[in-house]
Amino acid sequence: MATDDSKAQSTRIIHNRRHRDAFGSPYSPIYNTTTYQFPDTESQLDVIEARKPGYLYTRWGTNPTIQELEQGLAALEQAEAGLAFASGMAAISATVLAHGQQGVVCIGDIYGGTQELLANHCRPLGIPVTFLLQANAEDIEASLTRPGMLLFCETPANPTLAIVNLREIAGIAHKKEALLAVDNTFASPINQRPLALGADLVLHSATKYLGGHSDLTAGALMASAPLCEPVAAWRKNLGQLLSPETAALLSRSLRTLPVRIRQHNENAMAVARAMDGYPGVATVLYPGLPSFPGHQLAQEQMSGFGGMMTIEITGGRNVAAAVADNLQIFLLATSLGGVESLVSQPSATSHHAIGREEREKRGISDGMLRLSIGLEDPEDLIADLRQATDRATTHDDPSR
Ligand code: PLP
Repeated sequence: MATDDSKAQSTRIIHNRRHRDAFGSPYSPIYNTTTYQFPDTESQLDVIEARKPGYLYTRWGTNPTIQELEQGLAALEQAEAGLAFASGMAAISATVLAHGQQGVVCIGDIYGGTQELLANHCRPLGIPVTFLLQANAEDIEASLTRPGMLLFCETPANPTLAIVNLREIAGIAHKKEALLAVDNTFASPINQRPLALGADLVLHSATKYLGGHSDLTAGALMASAPLCEPVAAWRKNLGQLLSPETAALLSRSLRTLPVRIRQHNENAMAVARAMDGYPGVATVLYPGLPSFPGHQLAQEQMSGFGGMMTIEITGGRNVAAAVADNLQIFLLATSLGGVESLVSQPSATSHHAIGREEREKRGISDGMLRLSIGLEDPEDLIADLRQATDRATTHDDPSR
């Protein structure tokens, strides 16, 4: 297993503070302002012409509350710099526009929104986009046809939890003078740090584990300062900044991220073990199970296996839907990474649009249910899954 330094992460993130106020508050005030006043025109010009540091306009990214958040985001991924965005898609689109103009190569399954962005919006803009379902070294190398391209992946991937070997593909990217961007949303920076494994850019839908309570939408990029700079320019001109209130809420959430993730890991492991081999459950896909195809690799590059898993229900789509509908504690909802457990059926939701043939190519069956394991008592979650499976699979309707 990669080294777990989540306790040290807790210390760093709890004491991430820029401002100490006159009242002794341990936390910074929220700078709910869009603009900043200057004593005279000369001082304003000093900031506009970058002779002196200073704040001008919040949309440009210059806001103390947002910058404090960005310092925390960078610390979590141990990056030189961090940028905060209004959503995960804002972070991904600005990164692709800043670093993907020579072409983007995607490995494995990626989030549907990212796929849509690349196929439906980037291609018509003239950006070459290649989707490679397998992380085969020769194919990746052959797809990186010119210097300055962007290699993109998610690991673990949605919904099969497939693991991509980050060290290996970072080596290929750099050999071909490409950058590697990794969407680290599923793992979180507590369980996996792609920069340490050779990636150049790390992306998050902060809507998920970083926010952790299903009550905010935000995104993040962590990378070196020179790689963040052009992305910040796109963010500024596309108007993708988040509000100072959301930034403060996200900073609040980051302080409990390490302890939340440790509990998500523990709960998911307990659920995976309990459901593996349970009658009516054909497969449990969870990187922490020794039977999982990517288990060895996950052990090498992750320090925890995360809170996401997919179970395959025997009997197909309708039986799986019945299991989802029978659940009492799990909420039937898209998204992931919150304190509450969620269930969704990929063939009916995230992967509905691509059709059955394409789903089959990706190893996504109609009987699959994706689970985001929350922070409830794992015994309650196991009992809920078992009762829902028992009721659905003992139903004698022959059409199931
Ligand atoms: N990346 C992954 C892996 C996701 O699951 C999602 C959303 O579900 C996104 C990116 C997009 O994030 P957001 O909804 O915050 O824009």
